[in-house]
Amino acid sequence: MPLPPPARPGQSFAEIDTPALIIDLDAFERNLVTMAAFAEATGIRLRPHAKTHKSPEIALRQIAHGAVGQCCQKVGEAEILVAGGVTDVLVTNEIAGAAKLDRLAKLAREARIGLCVDHIEGVREAAEAAARNDVVLDVLVELDIGGRRCGVAPGEAAVRLAEAVARSNTLRFRGVQAYHGSAQHMRSVDERSEAIERAGLLTRNAIERLAQAGLACETVGGAGTGTYELESRSGIWNELQCGSYIFMDADYARNRMADGSTFNTFQHALFVLAGVMSKPVPDRAIVDAGHKAAAVDSGMPVPWQRDGVIYTKPSDEHGILTGDPVAVPHRGNRVLLVPGHCDPTVNLHDWYVCVRGLGGPDAHVEAVWPVAARGALS
Ligand code: PLP
Ligand code: MN
Repeated sequence: MPLPPPARPGQSFAEIDTPALIIDLDAFERNLVTMAAFAEATGIRLRPHAKTHKSPEIALRQIAHGAVGQCCQKVGEAEILVAGGVTDVLVTNEIAGAAKLDRLAKLAREARIGLCVDHIEGVREAAEAAARNDVVLDVLVELDIGGRRCGVAPGEAAVRLAEAVARSNTLRFRGVQAYHGSAQHMRSVDERSEAIERAGLLTRNAIERLAQAGLACETVGGAGTGTYELESRSGIWNELQCGSYIFMDADYARNRMADGSTFNTFQHALFVLAGVMSKPVPDRAIVDAGHKAAAVDSGMPVPWQRDGVIYTKPSDEHGILTGDPVAVPHRGNRVLLVPGHCDPTVNLHDWYVCVRGLGGPDAHVEAVWPVAARGALS
């Protein structure tokens, strides 16, 4: 039996059960508009990453604000997005094995579907799956431009792969995937600029070699929330894949702007609402949100607007708030936590509780959205 969501639309903020994953709708909508306005002003395509939100509700809002479609990382995410009405999905990832590729190819009967390759076997498997399902799949050749994750070297090897894609009559060569993951959280603009400049040289070189082989890159995709302004300015990339901007987590807030101030283009729009279960001593309160409510791979959750209190030592179901005894909340109080890392935190929850007027006297639940692709790991 599925558990009910922690709140119902129309309830007051005080009535939300804990722990709950909260969207501050006002901040969320500002983030939505800020990125859409950037893309429009710079004339660059925006294809936001659904690995962050895992939600067709959010995807459709991004598309209504001008996004060309969605990125995702997993076939299961693509399935949920297409079922939810998204008609253009790029899997920014390599997919291995006939079972997964058949699932992906089936989606291409209803939507435009793309994926990445970095090996000739990937080209062959994708082409065969597309043929078995009587569809055509879009393909980007993924380049390793410094992220040292997937991707082929951006030279001859990339050209050979692209040629193999172009030869297949069930694949359509669309361009290159050039995402630099490890640059996103470099703290200073100088470090990020340097990384993206190097990545840009490699990417430009690969595009030129492909052009010499008669292969035009209609799509040069990449960029995340930490670097998208740099890719946009380069004139090399033409499609941005930012994900975290929509929620803005505590780790991204540790990035710096050019003038040294904290990264504040986007506002925190995602929180874990935790309840205080116990305050056994004056300087320690225990909340009901531990590892199963907030991911800590990029640092601890940060208590929101509670100076003098820090969150430490999560265990499975508990988190500890310590600090000034006057500031440490009491049993029955509730605390908003800004997650260290938004993407894996979202994947811990079944529901978004969307709050209007968060922090104000009329804060209330406006909507409850499922984290529809939660657990879509395959
Ligand atoms: N594109 C790809 C391929 C990614 O793997 C990611 C995230 O890891 C993103 C885009 C989005 O990055 P961010 O959430 O930092 O905006
Ligand atoms: Mn992330």
